[in-house]
Amino acid sequence: MSYIKEIFEQVVAQNPAQPEFHQAVEEVLESLAPVVEKNEALYRREALLERLVTPERVVMFRVPWVDDQGQARINNGYRVQYNGSIGPYKGGLRFHPTVNLSVMKFLSFEQNFKNSLTGLPMGGAKGGSDFDPKGKSDREIMRFCQSFMTELYKYIGPDVDVPAGDIGVGGREIGYMYGQYRRIRGGYEGGVLTGKGLSFGGSLGRTEATGYGLLYLTREMLKCNGHDIAGKTIAVSGAGNVATYAIQKAWQMGAKPVTCSDSNGWVYDPDGIDVEVLKDVKEVRRARLTEYVKARPNAQYHEGKGVWSVKCDVALPCATQNELFLEDAKMLVANGCIAVAEGANMPTTLDATKYLQSNGVLFCPGKASNAGGVAVSGLEMAQNSMRYSWTVEEVDNKLHQIMVDIFHNLDNAAREYGMEGNYVAGANIAGFLKVANAMLAQGVI
Ligand code: NDP
Repeated sequence: MSYIKEIFEQVVAQNPAQPEFHQAVEEVLESLAPVVEKNEALYRREALLERLVTPERVVMFRVPWVDDQGQARINNGYRVQYNGSIGPYKGGLRFHPTVNLSVMKFLSFEQNFKNSLTGLPMGGAKGGSDFDPKGKSDREIMRFCQSFMTELYKYIGPDVDVPAGDIGVGGREIGYMYGQYRRIRGGYEGGVLTGKGLSFGGSLGRTEATGYGLLYLTREMLKCNGHDIAGKTIAVSGAGNVATYAIQKAWQMGAKPVTCSDSNGWVYDPDGIDVEVLKDVKEVRRARLTEYVKARPNAQYHEGKGVWSVKCDVALPCATQNELFLEDAKMLVANGCIAVAEGANMPTTLDATKYLQSNGVLFCPGKASNAGGVAVSGLEMAQNSMRYSWTVEEVDNKLHQIMVDIFHNLDNAAREYGMEGNYVAGANIAGFLKVANAMLAQGVI
């Protein structure tokens, strides 16, 4: 049996009932085959793949809090510190009812390679809770965040592990968590969290970074394959942080984003999504997308899923994992879509990815195309260490350069290993090599 197959079977046997984790490991291992074959004796002797698929540390804890009615409530809290070989653990916190150990492990495993691809010194981690922020009052959110941090603070620090936001965790939640951390620890340790408010150590450009970065990489990928992003019709899913700023940057590049979605339904706006209306509905009023169409009479609202049935040149899944299935991929291909770049983490299922690739659709995996968020988080850490702030132009220029470099890095890695145009393999290989080399250099730990 091949080394890779052995490892994958071991992962499934040792981590039962963790389908998202299995899926992420399978996708990465599969594309590492040419590298592993070349170095098999060394990797086997050092148990490199065994160590790569085993998190360095998993912390699980109880999060007690009291709701506005005086009722005590309990949620599960997690932090998975996957691999710290290239820098402090780094990765977001997700508050969503679908959070469980499998989701945390898949996200933190992916984060290793993503962070490695940015070229910045950051290891991989992820955390969160099955707490559902929807419908909670501001005070409930604050009490929850304080309770979460009262446990989490023991395991993090500016040089140890630096969490950030993710689904359900934005500027408000980071603010409350930072406040509690500071209260417990005393003193200023701004570098312990990223995505902070601008008045207490946040970086300009962080809010926009993932969506903007996605478009910088997508434009480069299109350009290197003979296409211009200007004039393209773009289908976007999601209506949160990543989707909103992807839509904004798409307009700035002369493209036309025509869809967005949330967990209840989706919008098709033939005139293009109006970013200001979208921000007002989702960021300011925290309302549902049914409110969007009230302000945009030409737009249509549909219950359920359906973004990928719209005719588009480029598709950007920006909501959550496993939201673009094989049947969606078939619709995209039939409608003439030429490129898919993932804004979310693992939104495309494995069979859908393969279908898109084998039908000539340019496909960039999230660990590369959504790395702009963590890249600017890395820049926030650098600014915190320097006690200095860069202008928004300085941050944006660095982000742009990082995303262009990431694309060429994975394009080159794919070519070097004889898989030209396979950006999934390129991203996995390029991300893996840096982590693997650091692990080998540091001995068996
Ligand atoms: P937000 O919470 O801001 O937005 C998430 C969006 O996706 C919302 O519109 C939400 O709808 C929708 N959504 C969430 N879960 C589901 C679900 N199970 N089914 C259907 N729709 C769903 O999160 P972000 O925009 O920050 O994150 C989106 C994705 O991007 C995630 O995969 C995240 O891991 C990834 N990512 C985020 C980064 C960042 O910097 N924020 C960085 C890199 C990756 P609703 O409001 O109805 O729940």
